[in-house]
Amino acid sequence: MRQGGQSWTFYEGPPTANGLPGTHHIEARVFKDVFPRFQTMKGKYVIRNAGWDCHGLPVEIEVEKELGFSAKGDIEKYGIAAFNEKCRHSVQRHVGAFTEMTERMGFWVDFDQAYWTMSNEYIESVWWSLAQIHSKGLLVQDSRVAPYCPRCGTGLSDHEIALGYESVTDPSLYLRFPITEGELKDLGASLLVWTTTPWTLVSNTAIAVNPDVDYLVVRTKADSEKEVTSEVLVIAESLVEAIDGGYEVLRKLKGNQLEKTKYQRPFDFVDIPDAHYVVLADYVTTEDGTGLVHQAPAFGADDLQTCRKYGLPVINPIAPNGEFESNIPTVGGMFFKQADRVLIKVLKKSAALYKHQQYEHSYPHCWRCHTPLIYYAQPSWYIRTTKIKEELLRENAATDWHPETVRTGRYGDWLNNNIDWALSRNRYWGTPLPIWRCENKHEEAFASKAQLQARYGRDLTDLELHRPFVDEIVFKCLSCPSQMVRTPEVIDCWYDSGAMPFAQWGYPHSQGSDQRFNQAYPADFICEAIDQTRGWFYTLMAIGTLVFDKSSYKTVLCLGHILDKDGRKMSKHLGNVLEPMALMDKHGADAVRWYMLAAGSPWSARRVSHEAISEVVRKTLLTYWNTVSFLTLYASAANYSPTPITNSTQLSILDRWILSELNQLIALVDQALTDFDSQLAGSAIATFIDDLSNWYVRRSRRRFWDGDSPALSTLHHCLKNVTLLMAPMVPFITEHVWQELICVVEEDGPISVHLADFPVSDDSLIDKELSKSVALTRRLVELGRASRAQSGVKIRQPLSRALIAAPGWKSLDVELRDQISDELNVESLDDLSSAGADLVEISIKANFRSLGARFGGEVQAISKAITSSNAQALVGQIRKDGKASISYDTNSVEITEDDLVITETPRTGWAVASHSGESVAMDLKLTDELIAKGIVREAIRAIQDERKTAGFDVSDRIHVKWNSDISSSKAIQDGIAWISEEVLALSFERDPSLKPSDQELGLCLRLSRA
Ligand SMILES: [Zn+2]
Ligand SMILES: [Zn+2]
Repeated sequence: MRQGGQSWTFYEGPPTANGLPGTHHIEARVFKDVFPRFQTMKGKYVIRNAGWDCHGLPVEIEVEKELGFSAKGDIEKYGIAAFNEKCRHSVQRHVGAFTEMTERMGFWVDFDQAYWTMSNEYIESVWWSLAQIHSKGLLVQDSRVAPYCPRCGTGLSDHEIALGYESVTDPSLYLRFPITEGELKDLGASLLVWTTTPWTLVSNTAIAVNPDVDYLVVRTKADSEKEVTSEVLVIAESLVEAIDGGYEVLRKLKGNQLEKTKYQRPFDFVDIPDAHYVVLADYVTTEDGTGLVHQAPAFGADDLQTCRKYGLPVINPIAPNGEFESNIPTVGGMFFKQADRVLIKVLKKSAALYKHQQYEHSYPHCWRCHTPLIYYAQPSWYIRTTKIKEELLRENAATDWHPETVRTGRYGDWLNNNIDWALSRNRYWGTPLPIWRCENKHEEAFASKAQLQARYGRDLTDLELHRPFVDEIVFKCLSCPSQMVRTPEVIDCWYDSGAMPFAQWGYPHSQGSDQRFNQAYPADFICEAIDQTRGWFYTLMAIGTLVFDKSSYKTVLCLGHILDKDGRKMSKHLGNVLEPMALMDKHGADAVRWYMLAAGSPWSARRVSHEAISEVVRKTLLTYWNTVSFLTLYASAANYSPTPITNSTQLSILDRWILSELNQLIALVDQALTDFDSQLAGSAIATFIDDLSNWYVRRSRRRFWDGDSPALSTLHHCLKNVTLLMAPMVPFITEHVWQELICVVEEDGPISVHLADFPVSDDSLIDKELSKSVALTRRLVELGRASRAQSGVKIRQPLSRALIAAPGWKSLDVELRDQISDELNVESLDDLSSAGADLVEISIKANFRSLGARFGGEVQAISKAITSSNAQALVGQIRKDGKASISYDTNSVEITEDDLVITETPRTGWAVASHSGESVAMDLKLTDELIAKGIVREAIRAIQDERKTAGFDVSDRIHVKWNSDISSSKAIQDGIAWISEEVLALSFERDPSLKPSDQELGLCLRLSRA
């Protein structure tokens, strides 16, 4: 659609089709849908390819569960080919549920063109990009300590770690490491060391101190009551408070004086030769602990670096499954975290434990299986993103973030602390790394199957680009006599999704992909939840910058999270999950969409509940729907066909007003949706629908009854345009209205609202003065209603007059003034000043808060002067001049309205309401004539209600028979002509056989169609 139009590019962040979709998927998809729809109506050509993220641990874990596997060994036994086939089917199975939800909610996306990250074309494209990065020297294998999930048996990247922090309580241990040589040994001194990972003590290799920090050697005080004996400890001076009780300082020395001091480690379960002495490391801080840091180089990046400097061995007693090697005493075969408890028991019995506390902190867990991660030395493939940090910062600075704060905040921080991307995974179901190596580390990266085939020398047409098939391809090294085999890892599935800008087209291998890619790079718009700053938003930008030196998107919308009605996260555990299909079945897809788009800022967390959705539906969508029904009803009654709106003299002031509002709305919604602010667009539309229904239509009702053509045309025009404005947001209801209201009378127009152009604001119809006047009119009506409500006099009881005080009201057009008297049901309007100051009793007191701040001690005297002044005159003057002066003792000061607490009480016979300098007073005095009119109005309302109950058509003429009790019969008798006209009665006869009812007026009615 709109092919040939200027293209506007949207990238669909592929969902992992793993498990069923949740309500947060609707949220993301609503926002992904509304802006492309809007741009399409603006004439842009917007391609919307669906996509499926197929690879990775989430899928593997699902299949492992299904097959009852608990470790990688089970997969190898089962066979990689069969396992991967299961993974492929698992993905295909869940795609159906996503497609169904997507279609139900009206997310307009092309499933036929969908890209699958597991397809050969996609993988080849990913290979091509990896070969580019490899050729730049930015894809390398390195042995580093990296976060590692022992259950999944693979390392994780930094952005994956960020997804999985959980709060845990760990032991906090202070331990004695006795010094075994030199002068400090003679003193009987121990190094005091703090750790929160007792399981790493098994592989303790050294103790690190900061060379420039001051350390103390202290002798603690004995306390016989607490059975504490004196001992000598070494600790950083600034952390000496960790010592319980008193102490005496024996020595003070710099960290570097401790270098090479030998000590006794707490456990000697494993052999670590030539180790166990103090080493120097700048990274040691005195923020917490003791300033002496236990080193286990296999489990800490800093430890590894420090120990390597001293040539210390790297001993790792933990197997890749997270368990201690079985031959190790005490903890052999135990999962690393479980060993903590056992080891603490042993420490307690020995002399090593100085102090044992609990320590609550946030610790990284596997974002998929929730196993605590282990920092673990192992060889992995890295993309050296730190080498392109400047480029990434440059691209970020040029990106249009919504909300803007993400650029320098959450995402900017992330980039500033960028570390290399740990790309490889020791797993099965993923894009295989396209790197072949020989035992002498000669390396080749392949950019396509064709390239691999050329090297292999045999036909690979039918090769499936997954494990184990790619692993079977071996060939001779070009540089030495060895065999080249594929490095066994697969890649991080986040790389797959970040590669979609080019891989979705199979670029550069597939035919036509060149043109397609160039036409759609970078994206004008992407949108996902805020947690993707470290996920998809990052990998998209990183890969784009690595391969093309340019980020893959210009604008990104970060959505807030979905919460339940109490502001809690939705989780199965809390039982507060709202299923997306059920939600839409209950409220309708449009209701859910409208709620997501209009009920709050896109980037704030939003609470979703049935009540909240019902509320916005009732307020806006239902009002819109009812207004459409109203027009349909009266248009068909009047046999009306729409005529174009021209700013002709035929238009009433109300017509001109609503058209002015409409054109201002069109301009505002256009701008808001251009700026990705659906909330502003939604609230402006809601206000307009309220104006249209509760003011324009209500005030024009009589004209619709009369089939007035300008009124019908104006309403038709407004509804047509508001339908167009709402079409991107609520596609179903607007399409229905388009078919029922527009297509039937505009045969040459677009056959669907979604094929129509977005409306264009007509400035010549905008009259801002008129907007102001009507706004004033409506405010005065509100005040008048409020004052009536206070007095308890019903709105149908006419009153003789309303008195008004408001700047500008006297210059209101006579039509608007008539609307005020009609709405308030008063016979006349007058200026409040005409009634003098008699309507309200005014009393005043000093406002101590305001006066006290300015006059301090004199405030009592001023207060006295205020209370004894003429309140009426003082308030009158302040309201006229904005200030007045008050004399007290021999002084005088100037005061303003803020300095007074003013209480106004209406005098008997009046009801008054005021707000922001505008007041309306109702004269409550009733005459017999006014009472009679009130009765007639009540009778009219009763007959209208009866007409509705009887199911008469709005244009049906009727016969009325009536009877009533004595109190109202005369008034009704006298009002027959008026009543008959209002209710379309051809005859109106009193029938004494009807028994007066006990309802209001004692009125009894019998209606029949004429
Ligand atoms: Zn895991
Ligand atoms: Zn070689």
